[in-house]
Amino acid sequence: MTSQFIPVEPFDYVVFGGTGDLAERKLIPSLFRRFCDGQIPETSRIIGAARSNMETGEYRTFARKAIDEHAPSDDAGQIAAFMELLHYVAVDALSERGWEELKSLLGKEDKVRAFYLAVGPSIFGPIADRLDQHGMVRDRSRLVIEKPIGKDLKSARELNETIGRHFREDQIFRIDHYLGKETVQNLMALRFANTLYQPVWNASFIDHVQITVAESIGVEGRGSYYDKAGAIRDMMQNHLLQLLCLVAMEPPASIDADAVRDEKLKVLRSLKAIDAGNAAQQTVRGQYKAGASGGEAVPGYLDEVENDLSETESFVALKAEIETWRWAGVPFYLRTGKRLPARVSEIVIEFKPVPHNAFGDAGTDMKANRLILRLQPDEGVSQSIMIKDPGPGGLRLRQVTLDMSFAESFDAHAPDAYERLLLDVIRGNQTLFMRRDEVEAAWRWIDPIIEGWLAAGVKPAKYTAGSWGPTASIALIERDGRTWHEGET
Ligand code: NAP
Repeated sequence: MTSQFIPVEPFDYVVFGGTGDLAERKLIPSLFRRFCDGQIPETSRIIGAARSNMETGEYRTFARKAIDEHAPSDDAGQIAAFMELLHYVAVDALSERGWEELKSLLGKEDKVRAFYLAVGPSIFGPIADRLDQHGMVRDRSRLVIEKPIGKDLKSARELNETIGRHFREDQIFRIDHYLGKETVQNLMALRFANTLYQPVWNASFIDHVQITVAESIGVEGRGSYYDKAGAIRDMMQNHLLQLLCLVAMEPPASIDADAVRDEKLKVLRSLKAIDAGNAAQQTVRGQYKAGASGGEAVPGYLDEVENDLSETESFVALKAEIETWRWAGVPFYLRTGKRLPARVSEIVIEFKPVPHNAFGDAGTDMKANRLILRLQPDEGVSQSIMIKDPGPGGLRLRQVTLDMSFAESFDAHAPDAYERLLLDVIRGNQTLFMRRDEVEAAWRWIDPIIEGWLAAGVKPAKYTAGSWGPTASIALIERDGRTWHEGET
């Protein structure tokens, strides 16, 4: 089966921070792959913008290296054609330098114009201000911003206000790249394109849900940012809550952006509050100490961030509850952390056990059905079911796993999340992007947890780098008679 690639209309993509890590590892390689599949017309332009003094030729050399490293290709013709799309303008977000040059390069043609802010969040506002002051924001302009969108509700509101003065909400694309992953969209397909799951997608049939986003790396070069944020702001407020919303939302009337985002918003608003009164019971904070990763000794968090007094968590686990008829009594266990044993992101839907064992002794090992959606490292969907163990000798039961991703049926590689999201911006499709009210609702739920930690004195418990977090995280789920899913089916 061959995938279908529908070209988008010609565009100008201005990448502020065009010389940075995100542009190099993700944005340029992703745009190149879409170009190779014929989705990007040759009259489009990709304009790198940053303070560094650079000619367009030098920028193309930078982009060429990024492609060689992150999207290697033997097709010299396609690489050369893609290079023609690239331009560079030296622009400083915090001064007048370069803005008129950028304006004149963009010209007057009425193309879709996307401004991707691959820069630190402190200059999102100044860039939006200057784009408008210099008359570059037009009806068909779009603004793309990356996390972090604020560090609490107040700062998120201020940022949304600032950009909202220059861009309409339907022009603003808040990226959460988890939403661009194939498996996450497959979750919507499984839920809403099959009759199979919908009738059992509720508290009568689902025992609990687990969402794990584990990283094996430490804070790497992000120490100064990370130490101010911690796992709850960096991962829980956005990626994990977004995944929870997609599992828990009611079927939308359509997959149009607002229909989906309205349903996600309702989930966020139905989360039972966690605050000083219950933060110690419902959440676990952790911070790694020295240990091992991939067989090598690694330093602890405090050494990595060079702050002996830091009380920032590099791990958080929590038990969320959704106060609706559908989900009453179904816990959602969420955990994320750094320096865990593996890089794995997955959603596990654990169904209830069968109400009666009709198989006597042969049924004592009966396991509840599980639907597992793996986002990384290998994207895929699997469903565990019980079957009769094939062969003679009486009826014995066995658990088997059905692979439901069917990735091998497609000859195209699974696209990187950014490939889809970058072109959704051009198409003007906001379904996989966060709306302002969603981001703010997520902070409205997260802020009291952080305040509750402070008020109740909940400090991060130490865990050894390379382990699955503090023992309290295991206790969080085991005291409910459940266990974290760790690799087995
Ligand atoms: P980075 O490597 O530090 O790059 C920052 C870029 O911003 C550079 O191109 C820098 O170039 C430019 N810049 C800095 N100050 C500027 C100014 N005053 N005017 C114009 N350009 C300026 O950062 P990054 O890792 O690419 O991250 C960029 C954004 O994406 C951040 O908000 C980050 O949180 C977010 N993000 C990154 C990743 C990732 O994988 N890297 C993932 C998710 C989110 P000059 O120094 O030449 O100006």
